[in-house]
Amino acid sequence: MNVLIIGAAGKVGQLVVDKLSRTAYTPVAMVRSKKQKEMFENKGITAVMGDLEKDFESAYADVDAVIFAAGSGQDTGAEMTIIIDQEGAIKAVDRAVHFGVQRFVMLSSMAADRPEAGSREIKHYLFAKHRADEYLKKSGVPYTIVRPGPLTSETGTGKVFLNEHVNGGNSISREDVASVLVEALMQPKAENRSFDVVEGDTLVEDLFRH
Ligand code: NAP
Repeated sequence: MNVLIIGAAGKVGQLVVDKLSRTAYTPVAMVRSKKQKEMFENKGITAVMGDLEKDFESAYADVDAVIFAAGSGQDTGAEMTIIIDQEGAIKAVDRAVHFGVQRFVMLSSMAADRPEAGSREIKHYLFAKHRADEYLKKSGVPYTIVRPGPLTSETGTGKVFLNEHVNGGNSISREDVASVLVEALMQPKAENRSFDVVEGDTLVEDLFRH
């Protein structure tokens, strides 16, 4: 199964590609620069060019599933958040519908399901993520939405706490988020469900067993 990773050169995206490449799934890294493309190809990973602000339809050729891990980042203004995190994600969902993608895993954010509760600084971001998540849910594409707490660059523990709603703003490593995204993709029980996730005590491979 070919899995397009949108935002593959990002910090979470690279970890997702790395983990997927050790499964039976085949990662296809969507990147914005030739340098990034070469970086993946030098590791034996298929990479395709695609920019959420432009046309990226060709990236979907032979794609069975999508993991969306892109984002405009914290250094850009609210306008870019709408362009990438909201409209870019919505366009990615539209293309998934068009190409009959079998599963779409969205990297969202904790509190994106209740954006009105966010502080003034992040409310626009939470609303952008919220609109993209809701669009995905209504698209008809089988989905999983993963809403992590604040991300750290610590080494993953392989253990998390995942639930439909988690109270509190505990953090989680990017590596563990990447593991959850890959596990969610592989497990039928994660289909058409949305979760908060933070650091915790449950092994990622046990998350969707029950
Ligand atoms: P990151 O390192 O900034 O990665 C973001 C990726 O998005 C980059 O690879 C970037 O591409 C890509 N991107 C940006 N604009 C694009 C465009 N127009 N077309 C295609 N790709 C584009 O971020 P991260 O640390 O991996 O985090 C990923 C996401 O997690 C964030 O965006 C955020 O939505 C979510 N999140 C973050 C937190 C947190 O605490 N930071 C908490 C919860 C959720 P380039 O490499 O070309 O720049």
